[in-house]
Amino acid sequence: MAGIYIHIPFCRRKCHYCNFFSLASRKLKVLFLKALRTEIAHSRTYLAGEPVNTIYFGGGTPSLYRPGELQEVMEELTSARGNASPPDPSPQGEGRRFSAITKEVTLELNPEDVTKEYVAELKKTWFNRFSVGVQSFADEDLTYLNRSHSAAQALNAVKLLQNAGFENISIDLIFGIPDSTETRWEKNLDTAFSLGVPHLSAYALTVEPRTPLAWMIDKQKSAPVSDEMQVRQFKTLMKKAGEHGFLQYEISNFCKTDRYARHNTNYWKGIPYLGLGPSAHSYNGFSRRWNISNLSKYIDLAGSGGCLFEEESLTNTQKYNEYVMTSLRTMWGFSIEKSVSDFGFQISDLFIKQALPFIDTGLLKEISGVYFLTDEGKLFADRVASALFVTDDEA
Ligand code: SF4
Repeated sequence: MAGIYIHIPFCRRKCHYCNFFSLASRKLKVLFLKALRTEIAHSRTYLAGEPVNTIYFGGGTPSLYRPGELQEVMEELTSARGNASPPDPSPQGEGRRFSAITKEVTLELNPEDVTKEYVAELKKTWFNRFSVGVQSFADEDLTYLNRSHSAAQALNAVKLLQNAGFENISIDLIFGIPDSTETRWEKNLDTAFSLGVPHLSAYALTVEPRTPLAWMIDKQKSAPVSDEMQVRQFKTLMKKAGEHGFLQYEISNFCKTDRYARHNTNYWKGIPYLGLGPSAHSYNGFSRRWNISNLSKYIDLAGSGGCLFEEESLTNTQKYNEYVMTSLRTMWGFSIEKSVSDFGFQISDLFIKQALPFIDTGLLKEISGVYFLTDEGKLFADRVASALFVTDDEA
């Protein structure tokens, strides 16, 4: 089973912290869809006939397009892959089947786009999961982040979706915002858990270079991001999520039983995926490729039959290090059995030796040959993982 990601490169305006590839100008919206169709046609053999079980529209802001336009893209995708029968009309949700054997079809929604009419149009599409970019239920945070919606619009978006019978909803939150407070973060979490959604993604605010946030901090127009505050708020997040019966199945992702984001879980499990649209990445088990991060060039190259991506073959070392990095972030952990089968005894022995100091210091734990980060270890996930990486000589 494989996944397909479609990157929609437009936003209403740029959030201060964001370094994703997207443009605030929407003048190329129509031309982009044309170029995307060309890319869909040219990529139809990329996953080598592997059935697709997830489709994810992200960005950017995919909800700047009408649901009907996105549905047309999906139909194009399925017909390009040789399967264009109509969707099963069974109810929305897990049981619904799709023409491309797709089980999870996610749309990222910005709250300000979710109106009654928009949701009514969504009912006519194949989307069965929605990721709502809430970020905060406090207007002060939203202003700080330069989001283009209010807290009331975020609440309204979730309610409108639920009232229409969509229940497979995830919300995104950001913590560690310099102007915020502990009380505000706790209130954010309480609001999130009171909404009855089965999935929550929560990320620490990161200061990416060359973003307005980096500039604001550099010019002392904002307090810097505080590691101590982020650690405190992350601990509060883990505690409250547990109290509300949410499972932390990945460091930043929490869900009710079995409501994992299948698409993202596939990334973490090293399952192949095809990424379409500027800046999107693809992985087929052997190589990784990444599309050009320039919309005008993407459109021109698609129109002239040029190559839209760069590609690199992955070495054993790279694949192993990626497995270390991603597996430790999830509740499925790093499996010695899988490591031996995919990478051999020598490298797996090395892992066991290198993991020992982290077990001694309480950052890792091992259960029946599978290694996991402890709650304390989750605070240092990147540091632990990179200490367990190997070099080409060791692989
Ligand atoms: S809406 Fe999302 S992609 Fe667009 S600027 Fe904000 S964070 Fe970035």
